[in-house]
Amino acid sequence: MNYKEIFEQISKELRDFDEIGQVATYIPALAKANPNKFGMYLVTEEGHEYDHGDIHENFSIQSISKVLSLVYAFKLVGTDLWRRVGVEPSGSPFNSLVQLEYEQGIPRNPLINAGAIVVCDILVSQLKNPYHDFIEFVRKLSGNPSIDYCKETAQSEKECGFKNNAHINLMKSYGNIENDVDEVLDLYFHLCSIEMSCKDLAQTFMFLARSGKNPLNNERILTAQETKRINAIMLLCGFYDEAGEFAFKVGLPGKSGVGGGIVAIYPDQYSIAVWSPGLNSKGNSSKGIKALELFTTITQSNVFGPT
Ligand code: GLN
Repeated sequence: MNYKEIFEQISKELRDFDEIGQVATYIPALAKANPNKFGMYLVTEEGHEYDHGDIHENFSIQSISKVLSLVYAFKLVGTDLWRRVGVEPSGSPFNSLVQLEYEQGIPRNPLINAGAIVVCDILVSQLKNPYHDFIEFVRKLSGNPSIDYCKETAQSEKECGFKNNAHINLMKSYGNIENDVDEVLDLYFHLCSIEMSCKDLAQTFMFLARSGKNPLNNERILTAQETKRINAIMLLCGFYDEAGEFAFKVGLPGKSGVGGGIVAIYPDQYSIAVWSPGLNSKGNSSKGIKALELFTTITQSNVFGPT
């Protein structure tokens, strides 16, 4: 398939897209993003790569890192993880506190803020140097040793992280946080601050399209069964209260972040990353979702069957 041409077709169709949305401003460091940036990158099972637009520029991956921390914690503690965090779609915003009270401090899933904070608590308990170990994990998956945290973004989030403070304190009160709340939150903010390009992002997630094997060195990151679980969680929870809409329109497991990035997986076929910083009211990239909808429609590739 001529993916390069398909990207050009999508970009042409989206030239007059007028629901570009707004860049995230609740984290001051993200407010500087240029809403006109747009990039798409595809890595296929055969190792071919296709690109379009701003694909080398780094952006803040934000909540996309929640999948990577989930994978890391799952590797460390296995199924014990599910005693601390659920696997149900939340149907509510990524930073909603409401369900946490009803569910006695057990977050609905690992891809909302509360769930990712519990995952960070597990990393703090399990690892001597979680910052170093985690970034090394991401670097190995991406094949890019220069991927790093952005101190400025992490600090910016810390200064206005009142809601995340509320989440962790509520969970601590229910006994679902083992460590010092500031230590755990600091790790959480750092994971959100990781920066990479569309190219890095598509490459990093390719192991989830290959039954858990890193295509760069064939290292097994997860078993096929564990990989299925992560992909299922992405399909059901990757877009918060827009997860149903994403499955409905795009039909792939994926994950978004308020930096405007989205990554999606077609098992055994490809990993695709899109970046467009303008967000819709659910905090997901507006143009990014549209671009992926067009992509899976044109290529007839989605997990529910040809269209
Ligand atoms: N760092 C952001 C927060 O905690 C992540 C949110 C997101 O990308 N949806 O609010």
